[in-house]
Parts: sequence; structure tokens; C-alpha cells
Amino acid sequence: MWEDVGDRGDEVTDRMNATAALVLQGLWEYVRAGQRDILLSLYLPASCAFLTHVLFCAPFLALDALGSVCQRVRSWRIASGSGPPPSLWQWFDCFWRVLYKYVTIVLPATALVQSLRSCKFPELAPTCWQLFVEIVACFLLFDMLYFMWHYAMHRVPWLYRSIHQMHHQHRVPFALAAQDSSPAELLSLLLLALSTIWVVGCHPLSEVIFHLLNSWLAVEDHCGYNLPWALHRLLPCLGGAPFHQAHHSLQSGNYAPYFTHWDQLFGTYRTPVPH
Ligand SMILES: [Zn+2]
Ligand SMILES: [Zn+2]
Repeated sequence: MWEDVGDRGDEVTDRMNATAALVLQGLWEYVRAGQRDILLSLYLPASCAFLTHVLFCAPFLALDALGSVCQRVRSWRIASGSGPPPSLWQWFDCFWRVLYKYVTIVLPATALVQSLRSCKFPELAPTCWQLFVEIVACFLLFDMLYFMWHYAMHRVPWLYRSIHQMHHQHRVPFALAAQDSSPAELLSLLLLALSTIWVVGCHPLSEVIFHLLNSWLAVEDHCGYNLPWALHRLLPCLGGAPFHQAHHSLQSGNYAPYFTHWDQLFGTYRTPVPH
């Protein structure tokens, strides 16, 4: 009887895997067939990166607006001296600054990188397992590279002054400020992400999903809220917004962008102020 139940469980898992594989293959074929020219566009990476960043920030703009009238929203703000939510003017100011840096620096630089890259469109979509492994590997590697780079930028005074200081203008960050950095820092982060993808040898679909998740997590890190449904509450290995906000408040420690293990290992972990 137990064997029957086990067999049935295996059958259900197999069927779910087959369905997921079909969905992935269908999605990939749609992308390959119809959107190939768009995907090869030199301006696509920067345009998508900017638009997804703004799109992911939109819910937090709504939260900041609601914060002025709703006590429940204010109670989600991270306690470490957060003060009131940023004003609409701060959002606009930051928006134009990020847009200006994208148009003048990131767009031409990514167009150049895109023209030098050989884009491959394999016939097969990745399997669910391949997709999962590649994305997790990308996050672990990117997290390590960023930790080392971030640590160096704080330890070497001229690196801090010339590259990283601009990002630290926000002692209390808000979602849009995730990309409010110097052009050199934005380019260095792009280089880290591309190197990660190259080392892992990602399928293009895994690469796109990695970019999207990376953008979302960066926004969430800076949002200023410890939301009940935030990802770091589900996955304790992630630091989330309280972890990164402690970095902005203290201007040191918590150098890794997402996971906490590197800071714990190197003694740079700073406990986020309790919510
Ligand atoms: Zn920093
Ligand atoms: Zn930051």
C-alpha cells in the first residue's frame, strides 16, 4: 500500500515536471520565433534594466505615498532612524538622476557590450532543474563578487570617494535609490553581472530571469520597509532591506548585497536594528 502511494507520488511529480518543461519550451519558442530581432537590439539591455527598475519601484512609491495617511504602512518602516517616507520631490529628483546616467553612460556602454557579445539562441529551453541551478549559481557568485568589490570600495579611500560615495548620499535609502550610484559603479555592477553569467554559462532564459530577480532584490534591499511578506522572512539566508539599511546607516558592514554568509564569515556582519 505504501509502495502504491509512493508510486502515485512519483507519477504526480513526473507529470508536474513534464508540464513545467512544456511551459518553459513554449515560452522559449515564442521568444526565439517572434522576439529575436528585439532581443538582438543593442539598446534592449539598458532600456529593459531601466524600465524594470522603475516598474519594480512603483509599488514602493505607492507605499511611501500611503505612509503619510496610514499608520499600518508607517509601522512597516525599518526602525533605524528611518523618519518619514521620502517625499514625491525626492522620488522625482532621484528618477531624473538615474535616467540621465542611463541615457548618457549605461545605454552606450551596454550597446557596445551587446555588439561584441555573440548571442546564441539554442533550440531547447532549459529544464526546470537547469534553470534553478543556473539562477542559484548566478546569485551565489554575484553575491561573492559584489561583496569583495563593495568591501574594497569602502576600504580604499579613493575608490570610495570616486565611485561609491554617491550611492551613500542616501543614509536612509528608498526603492529608486538602488540605482542612484555613480556611472562608474553602475558600469562595474553590470560588468560583475555579465562576468557571473559568463562564468556560470547560463542559458539565455536563465540570464533574463537572473537579471529580473537581481533588479527586484536590489529594489527590495533599498525599499526602507520590513514588509511581512518580504523574501528575507521566507529565506533567512537573505539579509533583505533591514540588513542593507544597516549598511547605509552605519556606512560600514553588511557588504554583501543579498546573502549574509560572507559578512558573518569575515566578521563584517552588523545586526539590523530590530523592527
Ligand atoms: Zn557601501
Ligand atoms: Zn545601497
